Amino acid sequence: MTNAELSHRWKTALMDNYGTPKLSLVSGSGAYVQDADGTRYLDFVGGIAVNALGHAHPAVVEAVSTQIASLGHVSNLFIAEPPVALAERLLQLFGRTGKVFFSNSGAEAVEAAFKIGRLTGRGHMVATDGGFHGRTMGALALTGQPTKRDPFLPLPGDVTHVPYGDVEALRAAVTTDTALLIIEPIQGENGVVVPPKGYLEAAREITRATGTLLVLDEVQTGIGRCGTWFEHQAHQGVEPDLVTLAKGLGGGLPIGATVAFGAAADLLEPGQHGTTFGGNPIACAAGLAVLDTLAANGALDNVKRLGERIREGVEGLGHPLVSHVRGSGLLLGIVLTEPLAPQVQQAAQGAGLLVNAPAPDVVRLMPPLIIGDAEVDTFLQALPGVLDAAHGRSGK
Ligand code: PMP
Repeated sequence: MTNAELSHRWKTALMDNYGTPKLSLVSGSGAYVQDADGTRYLDFVGGIAVNALGHAHPAVVEAVSTQIASLGHVSNLFIAEPPVALAERLLQLFGRTGKVFFSNSGAEAVEAAFKIGRLTGRGHMVATDGGFHGRTMGALALTGQPTKRDPFLPLPGDVTHVPYGDVEALRAAVTTDTALLIIEPIQGENGVVVPPKGYLEAAREITRATGTLLVLDEVQTGIGRCGTWFEHQAHQGVEPDLVTLAKGLGGGLPIGATVAFGAAADLLEPGQHGTTFGGNPIACAAGLAVLDTLAANGALDNVKRLGERIREGVEGLGHPLVSHVRGSGLLLGIVLTEPLAPQVQQAAQGAGLLVNAPAPDVVRLMPPLIIGDAEVDTFLQALPGVLDAAHGRSGK
């Protein structure tokens, strides 16, 4: 089976909501994947920040194999140990007492936060322009990207969107009628947009003063991606009421988690929310393997160090197409001086590198958290040629 054949079969059998990808991946190991034509790529997309341990990591393979061979699924009518252990581990990493609700995706994690917000008895919610929180209707109502929202209006809820990073806009929008404020600590899908210093701290202060729940959507920034277990932990004194997680947590298995602290942890009453697969033992066993492996190998220090190496290496090229690099840890956006990100992505693929283009002028890097200096060297060595090729194609 070749890339072209699989692409044709995809187009015939799958809905066209993603367009039809041209590249078919058939196997992976560590930070590398191989396509159907036998070409190998250094994977700096990482399943869109999902493959925290890269591909086919022995710890995940072992955890999943062992769990499915003993108890694959029990539903939420019974207790299995893996979800209990994973919830306990997550709370330990937050360093706070709280309660966890498991689901299967980032959107579902946000959807649960939305419903918890409704249970405060307040109707109004505040979210940010450009923010991305998922495609289910509640999560979409909080998402601040018109192209994704507009075909599906009306969306539930009374949601005000404010410019991201603007503290005064938060002060004006968040009132004692506001159930929740949802913010990404760094906007991932919007092109790795980092808010000004003090923004999360101000959001905490404003929500505390109005009795509003502060929801931090760490679906993309959490689980070590930015060099701390959760990005908000890099901000002194920012203790959210709710945190949503997914992506890296399952190391490739579908899982979402809504973590609630304080009064927010007790708003859902028995029977008010649920999902058959939430807390599935296999996904939770994979989650434990991810957290154990990252903790055991000092991976988070590595994430910070390699993220800085990439930032310095890319900015140090002095390439005319590169403005600067933004982001944190191994969630980085190379901001271009021209809207050529799709061309960079294409040229990178031709050079054996997978990167992503979330915005016309931003190339996003989300490599596995287990990469080492060798992978960073390979990336930095290939990049000048990739940028030249993309630049050349612009006709300049
Ligand atoms: N929140 C954030 C911050 C995300 O980046 C995403 C996915 N890119 C989601 C929510 C939705 O997650 P999922 O695609 O798993 O539903």
